[in-house]
Parts: sequence; structure tokens; C-alpha cells
Amino acid sequence: MHNIATLPLLIKQLGLPSIYSRWEELAETAQTQNWTYPQYLKSLCEIEVSTRYQSRVQRHLKESKLPPGKTLATFDFKSMKSINPAQIKALSEDVGWVKRAENIIIFGPSGVGKTHIAAAIADRLITQGIRSLFISTTTLVQQLQLARQAYKLPEAINKLARIPILILDDIGYAKKDEAETSVLFELIAERYETSSIIITANQPFSEWNNIFPDNMMAVAAIDRLVHHSTIINIEQVDSYRKNQASKTAASLAANANKIRES
Ligand code: ADP
Ligand code: MG
Repeated sequence: MHNIATLPLLIKQLGLPSIYSRWEELAETAQTQNWTYPQYLKSLCEIEVSTRYQSRVQRHLKESKLPPGKTLATFDFKSMKSINPAQIKALSEDVGWVKRAENIIIFGPSGVGKTHIAAAIADRLITQGIRSLFISTTTLVQQLQLARQAYKLPEAINKLARIPILILDDIGYAKKDEAETSVLFELIAERYETSSIIITANQPFSEWNNIFPDNMMAVAAIDRLVHHSTIINIEQVDSYRKNQASKTAASLAANANKIRES
């Protein structure tokens, strides 16, 4: 008979926290249900693997800074005529475009669900082990400028390069006159064909000369972004925020009428 007194210590030393906390309880189950030794070992391994997976997903969700609740499950495709649900689902499920370092650019006026879709795609991909970071473009430009002032721009850009998907929300809010947006160009150039960017934009490409310091830089940035990319255009008719607001207004009016009539 082996002495198993040191078993917990050995499991701990191997760094297997779930097996550490469950091995005794499962040993009893194994005995009562006549599991074979490999069956017992397998169920322990499964528990360790699945808790590791879940905690990795939780960690990656937290670090991604995705806006909470903006998932595919909460997105209403029915009211969005200009969005192809199959396309969005494919981008959320197939990691191929990320592996190929392609980009997604989502255009449309305010309130049509650009940010929601960008976040929802990233949310699904995180469950497949693809890390992402959601950031407003103006915040990112500020951060990169501070890094440049400290002569640490390459380090800052390199740090972001470790994240396969960078979501630049509202690129049009970054204005060349407010900030030295050439850092944004440097970031785009650095990620070209190496890692993905998802961009949401209120303005069409023709107005991106307001974002970058000069036209040439705007053209060069657009060229790199669109070379391998999916472009999604959401029309104004789809404004979910507006539709919700008008539905609320309509039901308020209906209620007011009822009250008046009663
Ligand atoms: P945009 O980034 O285009 O300005 P948002 O993604 O921020 O728009 O959407 C505005 C609000 O409306 C958000 O709260 C978002 O979750 C919600 N929304 C937009 N479109 C939809 C939709 N099709 N289904 C559910 N919620 C939506
Ligand atoms: Mg938005």
C-alpha cells in the first residue's frame, strides 16, 4: 500500500488547483461508481482543463475592456436591414480573418449599433482564445502621444501588438487639430499584415483627412487598413437608438390617449 499523505502537496507543486480541491471527492465517486483508474484520472484532468479555460476566458474578457452586455445574444438583427447576420456570425465564429491579420471597418451614423457589433464579435472570439482590446480612438491617441513624449512609442505599440484584435472605437472623433494623430498612423502601419484592427467610424473615408495630419497620411492609412478587410456599412434607417426612442414615444402617446379617453 502506498502512503498517499504527500499527494496533496505533490498536486499543489504541479500547479493543479482544481485537481487539488476535487481529487478526494472524485475518488469517492470513482469508488461508488466503479470507475477504472483511467476514468478517474480523466475526470480529474477534464475538471482542471475546463476551469482553466473558464478562468482564461474571464481574464481575457476583463482585460479586453469590452462594453458590458454588447453581445450577439443581445443584438436584434431583425430590425437591422443593412446588416447580414450570417456575415457577422461568420466573423464571430471563424478565427481565420484574425489569423490572417485582416481588419473590419464598420461605417454608419450614430446609434446604429457599430460599437455593439464590434464588441459582440470580439466577445465571441475571446471564447475561442483570441484576445482583444476595446478602446476609444481618442483615448488611444492620447496614450500613444504620452508614450511618444516619453520616447516610448515603439514600446507602447509593441505592447499592443501582442493583442490580436484592437478595437478602435469612433475613429472620426480623433481630430488632427486637437492631437498629433500621426501616432495613429504609426500604429496602423505597425499592425499592417501582422494583427487585426476593428474600426467603427461615423465618417466615410472621404472625410478621414480630418483625422490625419495630412492627406497623404490619410490615404496611406486607408490603403493599409482596406488591403485585407471586411467593410460593413450600416444605414441610417437602422438607427436602433432612434427606433427604440420612437417606439417609446409612440407607446407614451398611446397611453396618454387611453388616459384621455377614459
Ligand atoms: P453606434 O456605435 O453606431 O453609435 P451603438 O452600438 O452604441 O451605436 O448602439 C447604440 C445603443 O443601441 C447601444 O446601447 C446598443 O447596444 C443599442 N443597439 C443598437 N443596435 C442594436 C440592435 N440591433 N439590437 C440591440 N441593441 C442595439
Ligand atoms: Mg459607437
